Amino acid sequence: MSADTARPRVALLGLGTMGSGMARSLLGAGFPLTVWNRSAERAAPLAAAGARVADSPRDAATGASIVIAMVADDAASRAVWLGDRGALGAAAPDTVMVESSTLTPEWVAELAAAADARGCALLDAPVTGSKTQANAGELLFLVGGAAAALARARPAFEAMGRGVVHVGPTGSGALLKLVNNFLCGVQAASLAEALAVVERAGLDRDQALEVLTNGAPGSPLIKTFASRMAARAYAPSFHLALMRKDLVYAQRAAERHGVTLTTAATAQTAFDRAVDAGLGEQDVSAVVEPLRGGQTGPMG
Ligand code: NAP
Repeated sequence: MSADTARPRVALLGLGTMGSGMARSLLGAGFPLTVWNRSAERAAPLAAAGARVADSPRDAATGASIVIAMVADDAASRAVWLGDRGALGAAAPDTVMVESSTLTPEWVAELAAAADARGCALLDAPVTGSKTQANAGELLFLVGGAAAALARARPAFEAMGRGVVHVGPTGSGALLKLVNNFLCGVQAASLAEALAVVERAGLDRDQALEVLTNGAPGSPLIKTFASRMAARAYAPSFHLALMRKDLVYAQRAAERHGVTLTTAATAQTAFDRAVDAGLGEQDVSAVVEPLRGGQTGPMG
């Protein structure tokens, strides 16, 4: 049996850090795949690997049973689904639309209503894991939406990930992802300030990071970011500007439930500063750079 008869056709919109790895995983698992990216040159390596390259989201969605988007933010998601030559315009009834971008639950609800009006089902399915996990097919999908749509998309999720958590109804995956990244962003900003104190005071940085990363604060994120910050290794796994976006979205989402994320607001100021310093396209760990400065010595 050829791959075309064994697997439904999938379209993937967005070939950035995450989407490129997801596309390769789908091809590797035998899914016939159509890809589209706003900047066309990013699709060339996928074409070489066997994907059909579409010239618009609408073209990509034509004939696909599952359409997945992995783009920057709410505005990008709106553009690829509902914009001029957007994917929804070509989606056949019963298409499963998968939104894996990190988005606000409000926008997810609006998109789900548009999908429903066309007879399609939307799953919000943001991911945990970063560039390494996307390339290795080891993402974790946090899914909101109907169980029947999830069942149809599950083989694609299994090709791209190590697991699927069905969080609940539409928007619940998006919300849990924002809570997850709120915690990550706050930790990154806290570590940046901690490292700035250590360096400015002239403490032995390696010794200090050994203590901090092996002690109670040493979460997986703190361990990873401590070594990137120490080495100033900022080749992006996750763009700093996207973490800032997630902190903004998390605060907005939490307010709707009557909770003010004061720590997210404070962390956001560190990310605002880094974006203003031109570091938005660097890795999240570059949030430490604007805080670094000359030494003041251990007693200030
Ligand atoms: P990225 O490398 O910055 O890529 C962003 C993608 O969005 C690119 O394909 C870009 O197209 C596209 N895009 C941006 N604005 C657009 C618009 N107006 N219309 C159409 N396409 C647009 O981002 P990423 O790291 O792959 O992240 C994608 C999503 O996953 C984001 O929501 C992010 O928050 C989330 N996420 C990222 C990570 C991570 O570790 N990287 C982990 C979990 C979740 P161009 O190539 O034309 O710019």
